[in-house]
Amino acid sequence: MTENYDVIIIGSGAGGGTLAYALADSGKKILLLERGDYLPRETDNWSPRPVFVDGKYISKDTWYDQDGKPFQPQVHYFVGGATKLYGAALYRLRPVDFGEIKHVDGISPAWPLSYDDFEPWYSEAENLYQVHGNAGEDPTEGPRSQPYPWPAVSHEPRLQEISDALAKGGYHPFHAPCGIMLNEAHRAESTCIRCAWCDGYPCLVHAKADAEVIAVRPLLGRPNVTLLVGAEVTRLETDDSGRTVTGVVVSRDGNREVYQGDIVAVSAGAANTAKLLLNSANDRHPNGLANGSDQVGRNYMYHNCKAIAALSKEDNDTVYQKTLGINDFYSATKDYEYPAGNIQMVGKSNAEAMRGEEPHLTWFAPEWTLADTAKHSVDFWLTTEDLPVPENRVTTDSDGNVHLTYSPTNAEEETRLYEELKKVLNHTGMAAHHVLRKNFYCDMDIPLAGCAHQVGTTRFGTDPATSVLDTNCKAHELDNLYVVDTSFFPSIGAVNPALTAIANALRVGDHIRSRLA
Ligand SMILES: Cc1cc2nc3c(=O)[nH]c(=O)nc-3n(C[C@H](O)[C@H](O)[C@H](O)COP(=O)(O)OP(=O)(O)OC[C@H]3O[C@@H](n4cnc5c(N)ncnc54)[C@H](O)[C@@H]3O)c2cc1C
Ligand code: SF4
Repeated sequence: MTENYDVIIIGSGAGGGTLAYALADSGKKILLLERGDYLPRETDNWSPRPVFVDGKYISKDTWYDQDGKPFQPQVHYFVGGATKLYGAALYRLRPVDFGEIKHVDGISPAWPLSYDDFEPWYSEAENLYQVHGNAGEDPTEGPRSQPYPWPAVSHEPRLQEISDALAKGGYHPFHAPCGIMLNEAHRAESTCIRCAWCDGYPCLVHAKADAEVIAVRPLLGRPNVTLLVGAEVTRLETDDSGRTVTGVVVSRDGNREVYQGDIVAVSAGAANTAKLLLNSANDRHPNGLANGSDQVGRNYMYHNCKAIAALSKEDNDTVYQKTLGINDFYSATKDYEYPAGNIQMVGKSNAEAMRGEEPHLTWFAPEWTLADTAKHSVDFWLTTEDLPVPENRVTTDSDGNVHLTYSPTNAEEETRLYEELKKVLNHTGMAAHHVLRKNFYCDMDIPLAGCAHQVGTTRFGTDPATSVLDTNCKAHELDNLYVVDTSFFPSIGAVNPALTAIANALRVGDHIRSRLA
């Protein structure tokens, strides 16, 4: 038997959870289907060994690379999706990212909408996700219609020292935008306790602005919103014309259930959204749902990322380290004709997590223990844009499993950013030879597994021959199918993707509300 809803949303992460929030007070009947469960609140949330060494909160899925080699992707199936573990660095894409950008390995294409089109939704997204920041410090940021809703998270003394040294050296360090519920003016009232267990950990006290806490929990108990957990959508069925999704097939508790929605919005994460569409092939859509253009699954991107532990003889006592950003190399400079990317901070290293990652980390200072190394390290996260390449794609096999084919792009730019960081560090007393590379959650042995920033696979555009979605993120080939996760990105930029997914979900939510009115 099928049950009918006005809107069915598949996936409760940044895109899907936020879309549910955006639609909830319309009074329409909404079904949110989430394959995972609630992430348990337990002391392990804040313990490096279970989180980083044992991978307790990583899905047990198996995906395959282009050679058929299996790997465990670092995806997270919970109410709130990947945002349960994210670092909550909530950046807007820069205005340049919406235009065409020339890179060393090719062109990052223009979006069909501009920064100005997204700006009101970015403001709304920042308000909803309580972003803390300080406008006007970063020359690459776009104009804003509203200030940040919360003041920037302050630097701790070592980071302030580094920021001051960088400013003195002619750089433009800025306070990074953080989605944490920290009230520095009234610490007694603050939900966030400013701890070291933020980036890559679930927040035990629910003070991180993740999609569960911000978007989904406030909806529970509403008569018009139903959340089903443990509900994996395995297939979308259409009517005979192929224009309308008529059945959302779910596997729950070992049973097959079918739900019907006037509108169906997929938000399963870039790879899993492609998987679902490809696995929903039928007579009208022989290559997969909405895939007449053969674009579904293509143009997968996930950033060129490097985590760097910069070591100096001074201690780094910082607890919450993610307060600083540097975008001086975000676009071409007088010394380099291509963009290199964004530099930001990653969660503070600790010996326990390092043990699972890089046992040879102390090679250059053998007298140091891992604890010494962690104590002295200042930890940077470098992000360089990777390009939408059609051959970089998700496909599925006859059993419906994900296969990910990916060849890196813009490696030269990535190296350039690393070299720039070394120069930057010379201004801070951390000489270049004290820098070494460290893998954090991008495992270099299985690079594809570090898919935290996955985007692409169903890009939006105006031409149905080269895109899957129109500018409202509705599939060109269907009348009631939308995609609202990071799959819609035509390019990835070089800042973290979640705020753009959130802003877009609010934008698409507004469109769906007027459609249903
Ligand atoms: C460790 C880590 C750190 C990160 N740090 C940052 C950061 O600091 N800043 C930032 O901007 N981004 C960060 N990200 C990335 C950010 O979390 C993602 O970009 C964002 O969550 C993507 O949103 P989404 O809606 O596309 O997917 P998700 O948030 O992953 O949501 C997808 C949801 O769909 C569910 N699902 C999947 N398949 C099905 C199915 N078949 N049926 C039903 N449900 C399904 C999943 O369980 C999940 O809940 C980080 C990610 C990770 C993993
Ligand atoms: S820093 Fe704040 S938001 Fe982050 S994990 Fe700690 S308490 Fe939670």
